[in-house]
Order: sequence, then C-alpha cells, then structure tokens
Amino acid sequence: MSDIIIGIDLGTTNSEVAVVENGQVIVIADGEKKMLPSFVGVDDNGQIIIGETARNQYLVYPERTIKSIKRLMGQDTQIELAGQDYTPQEISAIILKRLKGLAENYLGQSVSKAVITVPAYFSDAQRQATREAGEIAGLEVVRMINEPTAAALAYDARQAESRHVLVYDLGGGTFDVSVVNIESGVVEVLSSHGDNQLGGDDFDQQIVLYLLEHIQDTYQVDVRQHSKAMARITRAAEQAKLLLSEAPYAQIEEEYLLEHEGVAIHLSHELSRMAYEEMIDDYINATLDAVHIALKGAMFTTSDIDEIILVGGSTRTPCIRERLLNEFGFEPHSEVDADLCVTMGAAIQAAMIAGQEVNTVLVDVTPYTYGTSAIGSLDGAPYPFMFVPIIHKNTVLPNRKSDAFATSYDGQDAVEITVYQGEDPDALNNVKIGEFRVEGLLDVASGNVITLTLGLDLNGILQVSAQEKDTGMEKSITIKNALSQFEGSSLQSAQQRINSLLGHMDPRVIEHESLAEKELPVAAEITTARELITKAEGLFEQVSREDQEDMVDLIETISNCIAAKDIQGLDAPIVELQDIIYYLES
Ligand code: AMP
Repeated sequence: MSDIIIGIDLGTTNSEVAVVENGQVIVIADGEKKMLPSFVGVDDNGQIIIGETARNQYLVYPERTIKSIKRLMGQDTQIELAGQDYTPQEISAIILKRLKGLAENYLGQSVSKAVITVPAYFSDAQRQATREAGEIAGLEVVRMINEPTAAALAYDARQAESRHVLVYDLGGGTFDVSVVNIESGVVEVLSSHGDNQLGGDDFDQQIVLYLLEHIQDTYQVDVRQHSKAMARITRAAEQAKLLLSEAPYAQIEEEYLLEHEGVAIHLSHELSRMAYEEMIDDYINATLDAVHIALKGAMFTTSDIDEIILVGGSTRTPCIRERLLNEFGFEPHSEVDADLCVTMGAAIQAAMIAGQEVNTVLVDVTPYTYGTSAIGSLDGAPYPFMFVPIIHKNTVLPNRKSDAFATSYDGQDAVEITVYQGEDPDALNNVKIGEFRVEGLLDVASGNVITLTLGLDLNGILQVSAQEKDTGMEKSITIKNALSQFEGSSLQSAQQRINSLLGHMDPRVIEHESLAEKELPVAAEITTARELITKAEGLFEQVSREDQEDMVDLIETISNCIAAKDIQGLDAPIVELQDIIYYLES
C-alpha cells in the first residue's frame, strides 16, 4: 500500500480529502466533520489554527484570519498573518498539510502523492501555484483534474455510453457551470462559465440586510456599527438559510444582541422560505444566464443535456433544483453528496492512477417523487389537484422535507391530506399511497398555514405529518413500504401513467393540432411518433416490467417533444422506441 494516492478538493470555502479502500471511496473526517473550512488563522497564543477553529474566530478577529485564499492563487502577492508575510501557495499548503495529516492518521501510513482538483477556468499560473502548494505541503501532485471532471467521475466512471452532463456548482463564494462529455470514464470539459463573486455568502448577506432593516424598523437602531452583534446576525442568517432548505419557515432568535440607550435589543423574527426565495431570485437568475452561456459555448441547447449534477453546498437550496427542473424538464442528480462529490471524484482518479479497483459510489436514493395535491394551476388553468412534490426523485435516503400550505376559505376547520407517489403534474395521475384528515383547525380567515413534513427512510417507511403552524397541533401517519409498494403495483401504475399520459395529452395535442394544422402541416416525424406510441401501447401488456419502464419514459419524452414541436428532439427517442418494438415483435 506504499503508493497510495489521496484525492483532495482544495476549495474556496471548504476542503476535503478522500481515499479509495477496498473499492469504496472514503471521505476522511476531521473528528465528526468531513469538511475542513478553508480558513487559516493565528490564535491568541500566536499558534496557527486551521479549519473550524479559524472559521469561528474569523467573525471576531478577521485581521488575523485568512479565508478564501484560493481566490489569490497564481497572483504575485503576499498576505500578512500575525506580522509575517506569506504567499498564497504557503497558506494553501497549510490547509493541504492538515488534509495530508488527516489521511495519514486514518491510513496509518505516510502519504506523499495526491490528485488535487482545480476549477475548470483556472489559468496555468493558478494551476502551477496549486502544484507548488502541494509540494510545500510535502505532496507530489500526480495529477490536477478539473472540478467538474471530478464531479462527473464520482457519478459513475464506468458507464460506457457517451453522456452530456451539466455540472452546476454553487458554493459559498463562487459559481461555476460546465458542460462535459463523459464516456467510459473519460471526461472532457466542453465549455464552462461562471462568476467568482456569486455564492451562498451572497444569500446570507441578503438575509442580513433584511434583518438589519427589521431591527431598524423595530428599534430604530443601526446595528452595523456593532461588530459583535453583526457577527451574530451573520451567523444567524446562515443558520436560517440552512433551515429553509429543509422547512418552509425559520425562526431567528438572538437575545441581547446589544444594548441601545438602556434598551436591550432582541432579535426574534420568523423568515419564510417564500420571502427568502424572493431575496435571492436575482442571483438564481444570474446562474441560469450563465448556464445558457455555457450551453452556447458547447453549441448545445437544454435538450442536448442528458444529466445534471449538483455540486456545492448552496445547491441544497430547494428553488435551485426547481428552477433547473423547469429549465431542463428533468430532475438533477443528487445521489452523491453535493459537498463531497468533487473530493470523491479526485479519490477515484487517484485510485485509477494507482491501479486500484473502484466500485460505484452511488448510494441509496428514492426512485420516485413523493408529494401531495393542492389547489393550483395546470396548463395555465385553475386546477384543484395540482401535484406538489416534497421529496424529489433521486434524493439520497434517508430524507426529510417540509412545505407549507394554506387553508383556502375562512373558518376552514379541517384539511384532507393525500399523499401521492409519481411524477405527473396532475396528482390524480400519480399513485395515491395514503390520506388522512386534520380536524379542529383554528376558526380564522383563509391562509391558516399547515406545514406538511415527509420523512422517508432507507426501509421505505414514509412518515407524514401535518402541523397547524399557529397552534402546533399535529396529526401524522406512517406509510409502510412506500418504496416497494410502487414496485408491487408498478404494472398498474405504469399503465395508469401511460393511459393518463395519452388520455391527458390527447385533448391538448388535438387542440395544438387543430391550431397548428391551419398554420403548417404536421411534420412526418410527428405522425411517425404518434403511430409508434399507439403501437407501443398495444404491446405494453406483454412486456417485462423493465421494458415497460423504458417504454413509459420514451413515450413521455416523445410526447413532450410533440407538444413542444421539437422535431429534432424526436430522433433519438423514436429510434430507441423502434428498437424496443422491433425486439418485442421479432
Ligand atoms: P461549498 O463552497 O461547496 O462548501 O458551499 C458552502 C456554501 O453552501 C455556504 O454558503 C453554505 O452556507 C452553503 N450551504 C451548505 N449547506 C446548505 C444547505 N443545506 N442549504 C443552503 N445552503 C447551504
């Protein structure tokens, strides 16, 4: 084991180290934590501190703490720390040395080689500086790989067929998007774009500004002058942001923030996910603009992308997922931890170089979406059974997510909660897996908030609870076999999906047709596609479950292309469906 090579993600906000052992990727933890904050500082006693401790002191002693050193890599500059000047390479080397030490501790042997990841846009000078940082830390950098490449490798290095993958990487301070082609473990970055001044820290800042305004309005005090209070608000803002990734509301409580003219200033405020999402909307729009620039760079449109991989802690923000789903029409992957997939990819690359066997790193995910129905709109018209996804397909298990709903009329004293499993925007076309009623709600005007929480574990047990926000009154049910239940009834539900797809689509298609036919003739491809769908439907009863699933997916894709009049997009799924039909008929 002497030639072990470790994989390192040397990040702007956090850094991590991983190795492959017995074919498994292991991210090495520092105590409990797998992420080492990329902070270096000097403490009260003049000792160098790294990671969490340095990060904690940053808010209070920014003058003796260095953060985001990655931004300075490759620049001919010096950074002062406790009266001494250091190059960016030297500061990065301190972080690398800690990671090397963690790996050595874990492995029980010395380590001298590493694969280190760098952003795709890094220049030669920045790459050279990273190599030097490794050398200073006593690590020979056997290879430097691009971060999106590493992320793609973590997702399955061994799949043979070629796939176009969009890697959306939103961290604390930077945003990068890359379009990559991956085939048999070889990853090629086709284009990338980004903004190195956009990230989760900006989201925190929006909440901070909002809270400052709230305190100003309540107490007429400008907190900006008080650095300790500002530090607490900044921390509370980030905590609230993290909570809002899981729940529709976050309660922010900071007692005795400061004293102003003899009055104690307390911060007690509830922030809703909806209000928060509005605050960060411009940032999310900016990331989507960058996505389109990257697509253009690769001469692609959204329909050329087969998969989306999310990287970076900020991609846990639910609306990012939703916006990407809307933009691309399919769910981004989230099987591999967004914070760790770059390190894991680096470790896989390191193992490949060292000639080690690597197993897949994919973990358990939910194959279906779980949610409820609510009054909303479908195809632009009001509809009482709009499907509201809560736990999305492909999320890592166990998983727990909440969303808020409101009563729809004054004095409404009960709500019916129905839980569905499926992907159709019309809840009635999904599989109903449970229902219950919450009674005795407050006698108040419409808009009484009910928080619905779904928790799905690895055994397929789905806990569903509904809570009246103002009283805390709660009712819950447990649905066993939420994963296998679908398997058991998959024929029925797949049929339901097919039928609903066709039944559902027919009127729309006819409507489109009657409009479209007046304007332009139906393309031959569309006619072929429709005939193919009819044929597939006829064969559906006699095929295996696996083929059924494939057929359903293809029919869905083809139907979407027909609806969007995307003739080009029809080519690939038509060929695939023809292949299946040919195989079934022969
Ligand atoms: P990274 O640079 O990838 O380590 O990402 C760090 C950023 O991700 C910070 O701004 C974190 O506040 C943010 N972050 C981490 N976890 C979450 C979460 N659950 N929801 C939203 N943002 C998160």
